[in-house]
Amino acid sequence: MSDYEKPSRAEDEYFARQELERRKKWAQEQSAKMAGDEKEHVKQLHWMKCPKCGMDLKEIQLHGVTVDQCAHCGGVFLDKGELERLEHHEEGVMSRVLHFFR
Ligand SMILES: [Zn+2]
Repeated sequence: MSDYEKPSRAEDEYFARQELERRKKWAQEQSAKMAGDEKEHVKQLHWMKCPKCGMDLKEIQLHGVTVDQCAHCGGVFLDKGELERLEHHEEGVMSRVLHFFR
């Protein structure tokens, strides 16, 4: 009897391991999918909203560069590369501010 149990147990373990791997893969896929959905959800919530007060941002022209300004608190926010573009338009005070951030 015990001779038949060993192959059976090994077979059970094989299928249990396969099932575990299948569940792990499913969990990883769900995690990746949820992370993507969550990223998109957060982006939709925050797009063109002031990071300080949460009100709408409006695009304004500042020395020929389009930047985002909050109509409520007056904060001005820069996208990637806009700081460098402003640097070309302003020497003196602006360059001292830019050096402070580097
Ligand atoms: Zn604001």
